[in-house]
Amino acid sequence: MGYQIAIDGPSGSGKSTLAKGIAKKLGVKYVDTGAMYRAVGYYMAKNSVNLSNSNDIADNMDGICLEASYAGDVFCIILNGEDITEKLRTQEVADYASKVAVVPVVRERLVKLQQDIAKKYDVVMEGRDIGYRVLKDADLKIFLDASPHVRTLRRVSELNKKNIPCGYETIRAEIEERDYRDYNRGPDPLAQSEGSVYIDSSGMTEEEVIGCIIGLTGRGVPKG
Ligand code: C5P
Repeated sequence: MGYQIAIDGPSGSGKSTLAKGIAKKLGVKYVDTGAMYRAVGYYMAKNSVNLSNSNDIADNMDGICLEASYAGDVFCIILNGEDITEKLRTQEVADYASKVAVVPVVRERLVKLQQDIAKKYDVVMEGRDIGYRVLKDADLKIFLDASPHVRTLRRVSELNKKNIPCGYETIRAEIEERDYRDYNRGPDPLAQSEGSVYIDSSGMTEEEVIGCIIGLTGRGVPKG
């Protein structure tokens, strides 16, 4: 087994940006497990599968061949031979993802894929169940949090930058609904794993959080 950092936390806590930054600094691979759940949600919605019906979702898993690949440092998701990475970042697909993520067969398939990647590479892997399910023996486990207010502001600013109109109240309601589903689902809910370090990034800059996590790894990063 190679070197592993597991980062869990709710949506909008900044996991992706930080995990990417840390992976780059340490020269290891970044693994975005949320993108895998998004890919399954995207496939099911595209094929008109009823996302409220776990049996229908499970039955349709056979139609999916999912692979992760890297274009340089960029983590890409290949669904049935097509690179769909760019199609996965919408709020709509995020919602599909959290619906398919409650289905045990979906989780089993994706956890296996994630563990296979970690057998091949040194990784920084981010998600909801990484520390207590996917990489139970990770060298460092982080639970990254931020207040719902700060997470909403970050999301609104991200959407504004892309010229996508959005209101604070709507985004906050979406974030809280997704949190509710993630924290309360039956299989593998979002939870802080034993032995993980809790970081509240609400009042911290990106650089401060990255510095804090790199410090915890005990792996010094050469300057420059
Ligand atoms: O991290 P991201 O927002 O892309 O994740 C989308 C959804 O996928 C989450 O809201 C969650 O329901 C699900 N997910 C999960 N387990 C993971 C990663 C994501 O259930 N390890």
